[in-house]
Amino acid sequence: MISGRVLVGQGPEELKELVAEFGEPGFRADQLIKWIYRPVAAIEEMSNLPIGLRERLARETIYHPCSTVTIRHSRDGTRKYLFMLQDGELIESVYIPEANRSTVCISSQVGCKMGCTFCATGTMGFVRHLTAGEIVDQVLQVILDVGSRPSNVVYMGMGEPLENYEQLIRSIRILNASWGINIGIRQITVSTCGLVPGIRRLGKEGLGLTLAVSLHAADDKKRRRIMPIARAYSLDELLDALHEYAARTKRRITIEYALMSGFNDSRDDARQLTDLLRGLLCHVNLIPVNPIPGGLHQKPRDSQVVRFENWLRRGGLEVSIRKERGADIEAACGQLRGQWEEI
Ligand code: SAH
Ligand code: SF4
Repeated sequence: MISGRVLVGQGPEELKELVAEFGEPGFRADQLIKWIYRPVAAIEEMSNLPIGLRERLARETIYHPCSTVTIRHSRDGTRKYLFMLQDGELIESVYIPEANRSTVCISSQVGCKMGCTFCATGTMGFVRHLTAGEIVDQVLQVILDVGSRPSNVVYMGMGEPLENYEQLIRSIRILNASWGINIGIRQITVSTCGLVPGIRRLGKEGLGLTLAVSLHAADDKKRRRIMPIARAYSLDELLDALHEYAARTKRRITIEYALMSGFNDSRDDARQLTDLLRGLLCHVNLIPVNPIPGGLHQKPRDSQVVRFENWLRRGGLEVSIRKERGADIEAACGQLRGQWEEI
């Protein structure tokens, strides 16, 4: 599928092997890895490598597996990227600057097989997993465009990261490594629709990252209507895994709850959610749903969102409302790719 070796995604050991194979001394691997994750745009910019080695690398390897197709700029500073992979598949990432931090939101798969009804990625189906290199390169491409490293990375773009477990872990290690992009582990968030075995496995890795769980309903029947994964794992099983995760990692879990008008935003819904989460080390993030073309769900009015927030707060939960960013460039999950394909 991908011809040649891809440099982004490789660690120190693999690069040592590569330079040895090229007949170069070991220290070239250290020089090379610094350039790869610095990053630069092209191999010829790796100025302390001999020209012969640069030429051979350019011939026999691929540096960046992602190339930029379009970048859309929002008035609020948010940028949305559409990247093409070596096999022509398209993925998207978002850059979100804020006063004292900046976040890159990255994809972990092309498409997604989880089929959540409110999600644009879910409606397009699953194409393939991303490699660790393709995951990490999204961040490198944003750094090249913006000119600085982000403080935070969230796996909230296309795809279900825990379904692509090995490559997910590999990519997190590269993002976090001092030889890699050097993003603090606490500044990395993995968002899942609730794959219970994956959550348990992640808890045992001892990584200290932030786990976000897309809950969206506090009642099994309701959750099954919008998230097919809820048929595989009940809320009881999910909550069990979350309690175990919090106990093991001592990290507060983010609960994502997309508010859908008339579906999950009532007083009763708030009460059920409060009961479900009581005693869990967590923070609830309320997201007014971003309606997708042909979708059934609409955003509640702002006043209803605030009312819902207050109900949860009075119930003892820690809660915040996610500020909408990049609304003028359709920075929600899966939307840019969809538009591109319609052209
Ligand atoms: N597959 C993972 C991560 C990618 S989705 C997951 O589901 O958690 C990232 C977040 O965006 C999830 O919380 C998801 O439920 C939410 N999301 C997807 N479509 C949305 C929409 N139309 N409006 C609001 N949030 C949405
Ligand atoms: Fe996949 Fe997450 Fe979208 Fe569900 S919300 S379809 S799990 S990307």
